[in-house]
Amino acid sequence: MSPLYEFAATLAGNWSDIPDTLGRNLRIELPKTREYPEKKSPNRTRIITTKLESPFVIERNSINGKPQVGNDRYEGYCIDLAEELSKRVKFTYTIKLVNDQNYGKFVDGAWNGIIAELLKDEADIAIAALTITEAREKVVDFTKPFMNAGISLMIKKPENEKPGLLSFMKPLSYKIWLCIIMGFLGVSLIFYMVGRLSPYEWQRLGSESEPSDSYSLPNTLWFSLGALMQQGPDMFPRSLSGRVLGSVWWFFTLIIISSYTANLAAFLTFEKLTIPVNSVDDLVDNNHDIKYGIQTGGTTETFFRDSQVVVYRKMWKFMKEHADSVYVTNSDMGWEKVKNGKGKYAFLLESAMNNYYNQRKPCKTMKVGRNLDQKGYGVATPKDSDLRQPLNIAILELREYGDLFKLEHKWWISKGQCPSGDSGEKGKRALNVSNVSGIFHILIGGLVLALASSLSRVLFHRKIKDTLEKGTCSVTKMKENKDIASTPRTVKNVEPEELEENKSVN
Ligand code: ASP
Repeated sequence: MSPLYEFAATLAGNWSDIPDTLGRNLRIELPKTREYPEKKSPNRTRIITTKLESPFVIERNSINGKPQVGNDRYEGYCIDLAEELSKRVKFTYTIKLVNDQNYGKFVDGAWNGIIAELLKDEADIAIAALTITEAREKVVDFTKPFMNAGISLMIKKPENEKPGLLSFMKPLSYKIWLCIIMGFLGVSLIFYMVGRLSPYEWQRLGSESEPSDSYSLPNTLWFSLGALMQQGPDMFPRSLSGRVLGSVWWFFTLIIISSYTANLAAFLTFEKLTIPVNSVDDLVDNNHDIKYGIQTGGTTETFFRDSQVVVYRKMWKFMKEHADSVYVTNSDMGWEKVKNGKGKYAFLLESAMNNYYNQRKPCKTMKVGRNLDQKGYGVATPKDSDLRQPLNIAILELREYGDLFKLEHKWWISKGQCPSGDSGEKGKRALNVSNVSGIFHILIGGLVLALASSLSRVLFHRKIKDTLEKGTCSVTKMKENKDIASTPRTVKNVEPEELEENKSVN
């Protein structure tokens, strides 16, 4: 606009300078709206301007292959709302999309988008996800809000972390596992000592003067392990000290095993979501590993541009520097970018759209953190429009009678395509192999170990037998064992343990 024209327009009273809260002048063009009510018939068909924004306004060019014309080309929350308002306020309308795909931003001394169309009298009503702001309210009229929203963060849903091989260990912390191992070793050792020290446990061959063999260290370890695994013991302490020790160990294992069992199912089925960022602060702190952007030409952009908050100012600076790769012209593009961004792009958009997209297949996005601000969407008309008051009353009626709630339910909840996180389905799910693979590994490991040890026993046994048969065994030792020395048949049946025992006895 040339300065000469601007000057002439100001003289003619066509311009008005309105300061905003930041002290900037919002110079607005007023001429047509001033003349508006007188010049036009109240029965004319009103032009509703709007902007494509799912699920507020969605384009549908055909239904069952039948091309759509006129208002039927669009559907969505705002289209239903326009229909409701037209019935209550009694007007006919045609829907048109805003020419420049903007909601309305004051830039270079003029408004663009939907606000500009209202100011220039190109439309009579704006029904869209149009945020009520102070600057806009100065140049157009808004009804009371029909929906509340706030700027929020959308990120790509992280992949679920499946339960690992050792997930059966997770019900107890590693410190408790450590304590259990120490307790197990300690109790076994003390049992061994009790067996050695207490005469009540000495029952070998009717002799009451020597410690019992059943209290050897391997046996006490086996006893403690049996109790820990909730199996019946094969040793029964006779002394008071042994019985006290046995009782406390059984009690300890009872509580530990009950607590472990109570937690186990939850840990086996638990799939952890490791969320990379939880808020805009995390985004700023992550050294721009994850880029972020906004939709241009709306209040989200204005919010960051005008914000005095340090974090938002940093974000604005970053977004301006990377404008080409982070800005989008509508929320749909932002959502696509998040979905396909391999977790490296986050999108800041109003919560209403965020909630909607997160319920769309392939269910790969999610909202994180709290809203950065609070605002509402209103129906806008040019200043002094004859529809302003009736529309305002109609919106309040729709709100009070629950129609707005029903509309919201229709477009957000009923049309949702993703299972909700708290549906309880996860809790009912059957365990699969990946949930319990760890214990199968342990079972297979145990089997292999048992086979290997029995094999090594057989080989060891055979070696001893060969040695004895070849007579390489020390003659003195054979003599000492009369049975072995005198009968070659018995020699063949000598167990290696027996040899060991003989050695120790002697
Ligand atoms: N609803 C916003 C507006 O009216 C759009 C946005 O910036 O997200 O400008």
